[in-house]
Amino acid sequence: MTASPATTASSRLFPPRLFPLFADLRGRRVLVVGAGSVAARKIRALLDTGAAIVVVAVAAGDEVLALAADGRIELALAAFDETQLDDAWFVVAATNDVVTNARIAAAAEARRVFANVVDDAALSTVQLPAVVNRGRLQVAISSAGAAPMLARHVRAQIETLLDESLGDLLELFERHRDAIRARWSDLPQRRRWFERVLTGVVPRLVRAKQHIAADIALQDALDNDAVEHQGSVVLVGAGPGDPGLLTLRALRALNEADVILHDHLVSADVLALARRDATFIDVGKQAGQHRVEQDGIHALMIEHAQRGARVVRLKGGDPFVFGRGGEELEALRAEGIRYEVVPGITAANACAAYAGIPLTHRDHAQSVRLVTAHCGKSADRLDWNGLAQDRQTLAFYMGVAGLERIRDRLVAHGRAASTPFAIVENGSRADQRVVTGTLAELPEIARDHAVRSPALLILGEVAALADELHWFGAPPLSGRCHDLPVPSLPLERAA
Ligand code: SAH
Repeated sequence: MTASPATTASSRLFPPRLFPLFADLRGRRVLVVGAGSVAARKIRALLDTGAAIVVVAVAAGDEVLALAADGRIELALAAFDETQLDDAWFVVAATNDVVTNARIAAAAEARRVFANVVDDAALSTVQLPAVVNRGRLQVAISSAGAAPMLARHVRAQIETLLDESLGDLLELFERHRDAIRARWSDLPQRRRWFERVLTGVVPRLVRAKQHIAADIALQDALDNDAVEHQGSVVLVGAGPGDPGLLTLRALRALNEADVILHDHLVSADVLALARRDATFIDVGKQAGQHRVEQDGIHALMIEHAQRGARVVRLKGGDPFVFGRGGEELEALRAEGIRYEVVPGITAANACAAYAGIPLTHRDHAQSVRLVTAHCGKSADRLDWNGLAQDRQTLAFYMGVAGLERIRDRLVAHGRAASTPFAIVENGSRADQRVVTGTLAELPEIARDHAVRSPALLILGEVAALADELHWFGAPPLSGRCHDLPVPSLPLERAA
């Protein structure tokens, strides 16, 4: 027997794969048999398609009843019979009775109506994919029913990759569809134009919800052909170190970046997630070592953006909390460079969470203050009277060197010497340490444990909760070292 080229090709793909289709169901009758929670899930997937959904079931669950009451579906409380398939384009068998489901599949097959039988790939002539939706832009994933969990896993990965604004971008392109076709009748040329637009300013404007500006930029790109290729800067908060604390936006910006300017506070684990062929520039300062001055950072951002690069300015924590993000935006604005800001989890949030310290608490603290006191001059400008009030939590950034002054001023202004504190060193990282005690002994305890930067001081009644609520890394070290029953690792490290 000689095989035709077609059978040879398909036998290599055995078992055959499914053919992906996107069906236009507007106004078309879709029958769903069953009205429990599984059926409801399928019905939900069908609702936004404009299909005329008819549900047949002997009994219906609350969700299906509510949809019927709202007039969004038609519900018939009846047993399945074949005539219900008349005029149907598609049927979903979602009863909990395998015999009925098989009967539906057979009847559908006989009438050439596509059928999906829940949890039964063999009986189904169509399968419903796992879907990532961005408005009308959809990515559908199928494992041919062989491994739905794998499809779901892939779906989750794609969810993280695709920006939410893609649905809006689709609507924008549709509005200009005729003009685009008229301008570029030649397909390869049209394709190249799309490529340029998609890497230009338009998607960025849509992401920033500047819909009118995006419309104008697209119109410009059509009229002048030249797509604006000005670079841009995204100020991204990298969080405290644990890469799991990045936002999806941050991850996407790191994926797109041509140039990444990062601080020393940005962890290696976070940098490892960035686009491999991006240019990495370390502008961080490490005590005693050379660092790029703030003006130099501005110049670098501007230079790369003006050359058309997508620059990510990556900062520890949040860019707007003691991160000089404001100054950087001013510098960009002065040069007319587009920017976006992606917030990050600031050290106070992260350290508190990872040490089991709620920053506010009904019984102990009704407000939180983020404070920095890294040098004498800035400490003198602080409102120590206000900071010494009780029932508030203070989070001191960059405070390791000035702990004595913090203690003395707070106590002098009336904060109780018995107020608990916790110092969180390397918060959220593998080497996180938490040291606790009371304000009276703050500098001494920190010195005993050789606390080093980066460390955050949390002061207030809530700090005492770390002893009970800690969950991450080593348990808190409390008090002075001579109180400790056994000399511990930090002591060795201090030596
Ligand atoms: N923009 C950053 C803060 C920069 S100032 C943010 O929002 O977190 C630098 C100070 O932040 C450090 O001196 C330290 O006090 C604190 N800090 C940053 N990351 C930290 C971490 N992982 N653990 C403890 N403190 C941290």
